[in-house]
Amino acid sequence: MAERKVNFNPGPSTLPLPVLETIRDNMVDYQGCGMSFLEISHRSPQFMEIHRNAQNLLKELLGVPDNYKVLFMGGGASTQFAMIAMNFLTRDGSADYINTGTWSKKAIAEAKRFGGVNVAGSTADDNFNHLPAIADLTLDSNARYLHITSNNTIFGTQFHTFPEPGNVPMICDMSSDILSHELDVSKFGMIYAGAQKNLGPAGVTVIILRDDMLELCADNLPTMFSYKTHVEKDSMFNTPPSGPVYMVEQVLEWVKAQGGLKAVEQMNRDKAALLYGEIDADDYYRGAVVNKEHRSWMNVTLRLPSEELEKKFIAEAAEVGLHGLKGHRSVGGIRASIYNAMPREGVERLVAFMKDFRVANQG
Ligand SMILES: *Cc1c(COP(=O)(O)O)cnc(C)c1O
Repeated sequence: MAERKVNFNPGPSTLPLPVLETIRDNMVDYQGCGMSFLEISHRSPQFMEIHRNAQNLLKELLGVPDNYKVLFMGGGASTQFAMIAMNFLTRDGSADYINTGTWSKKAIAEAKRFGGVNVAGSTADDNFNHLPAIADLTLDSNARYLHITSNNTIFGTQFHTFPEPGNVPMICDMSSDILSHELDVSKFGMIYAGAQKNLGPAGVTVIILRDDMLELCADNLPTMFSYKTHVEKDSMFNTPPSGPVYMVEQVLEWVKAQGGLKAVEQMNRDKAALLYGEIDADDYYRGAVVNKEHRSWMNVTLRLPSEELEKKFIAEAAEVGLHGLKGHRSVGGIRASIYNAMPREGVERLVAFMKDFRVANQG
């Protein structure tokens, strides 16, 4: 097999090698049952066990309280942008949204189709190079909910502390940092995440929904678009994305084997410190996020002295197996996505490359 690349892609993104190997081994014959995990029925005892185990592992790892349900759905986080508003917003109601980047903007655009939106804070004027201060948010105590994007995958900012909206339920898009650190789930009415950053392959979205949120759900929604349907049928109203759910289950087992979220958080802090340390070593590299407290541990964005040097950096990095470092077109520069499955050694190789590149190109 060709040597694996160090994969800094933002999503779909790198997966733990032992997980890929387990998936490969079960691809043709799932645990000796004579069928692939892709071929078994979603009503079969084998899949029911996978499904239950994935739910339980997620609850265990995140410490999800008993009054929450875990759902697996299709459609990506982007479908949730609309579903949240369909279910929880009303024509005459209003929801608070914090606008911290591309994904927040998309969530806001969908919500506006269904009701009022109060943008309680935004850093759009600064092209999202920092986060709004929590103390400055203009929260509405009558809001139907508060929507927040915990980690801004494209701009490289991350909320390391969350607002306290009182009785207003907080709904969080955690697509790019779920399971990357310890979390108090009880602060949230709902958490959702597309799997393809930190949880597994594309094709399944995880939803963690507090029971009392169902009381806020609109009636008369199309069946598939109502959270009530998916809670009542335990994600089995229709065929769930069974293959991706199995892969998520395997990633969750891997996270548990790493020592759970406490250990994973420490690894993520260490990896981020290593990389930001190199960025801050002198003025050659420049972090794209202006407020250091808002820096993401998952998506590290940086600039070089010129765009030509950035192009050269990306091309030469690729030659030594460091893949996927091009920043999103709306920010430019470099982005290294260092999710849970990125080994420390991958970050060490990037840092070593950065040192060499600086020496070779520092006029
Ligand atoms: C990738 C991403 C999305 C979009 O997810 P899809 O599954 O492609 O719909 C939404 N929010 C955040 C924070 C993301 O990183």
